[in-house]
Amino acid sequence: STPSRYFYLEPEEIAPIVKPRKRFSDKREYGHTLMIAGSKGMIGAAVLSTKAALHTGAGLVTVHTAQCGYEILQSTVPEAMVQTDNCVAHITEIPIQRHYKAMGIGPGIGKNEETARALEAVLPQLRYPVVIDADALNLTASHQNWLAFLPAGSILTPHIREFDRIFGQHDNMYERLGKAAEISKRYNLIIILKGAYTAIITPKEKIYFNSTGNPGMATAGSGDVLTGILTGLLSQGYASHEAAVLGTFLHGMAGDLAAEELSEEYITAGDIITHIGKAFK
Ligand code: AMP
Ligand code: MG
Repeated sequence: STPSRYFYLEPEEIAPIVKPRKRFSDKREYGHTLMIAGSKGMIGAAVLSTKAALHTGAGLVTVHTAQCGYEILQSTVPEAMVQTDNCVAHITEIPIQRHYKAMGIGPGIGKNEETARALEAVLPQLRYPVVIDADALNLTASHQNWLAFLPAGSILTPHIREFDRIFGQHDNMYERLGKAAEISKRYNLIIILKGAYTAIITPKEKIYFNSTGNPGMATAGSGDVLTGILTGLLSQGYASHEAAVLGTFLHGMAGDLAAEELSEEYITAGDIITHIGKAFK
């Protein structure tokens, strides 16, 4: 097969991707995001991903979560609409019937068998790109041929351990990237392989390495923020590869701006969100 081509993402290439908001526009033009996130003890992941989607410019965000997350989400993210599951502690159904533009799934959903079944049931019905993260990656991995059900342009966001858990152990990064490139091309998906210098693997055999981010971002919830950013961009109509490179770059830059102001040690995922604004500027 053709060897992949490698690129290093620089600010000059990223800035032109940003679509300025139109003077005469309303929230519907910036898309309705659906976030499937949270379970008992991990509602914070739903808070972070939902907030990040809103702060990235999504017009509307609905979060579907376990019943125990209702009051937490309504009070910490008043801008979001909250839809609760029938179950108190985890997600058992995934309602996709409304006119959403993009769906993010995974932050804090846990490993419950009922959540896995709900996810399997919904996969063949999806009609818009999805961002699959965290436990949704693990859960769907057990579904036979699950990648074939994902709409074209969907984005997977595994960190290295998650990638190896799903696609098999790899000895080194070169092998891992080769495998990711093969999967990306075969299923027309984007894989964001997270870590320092996150790699963005696209179906056209181009691999981008991100230049932003710092070890202060190795902190709980950091990946949940990325999922929110990516889903928020997709729902605004950014093409999948644009959302992937822009979102990954913004996330890292927000982390860099936060660390510059507060130190790598101090920052938590919430600080990444509060710096998305400056990153856009
Ligand atoms: P997760 O492990 O899902 O919480 O995701 C962690 C996020 O933080 C990913 O977007 C990583 O790229 C980023 N991250 C973690 N460690 C580092 C690091 N040492 N340098 C830069 N970014 C990092
Ligand atoms: Mg994660």
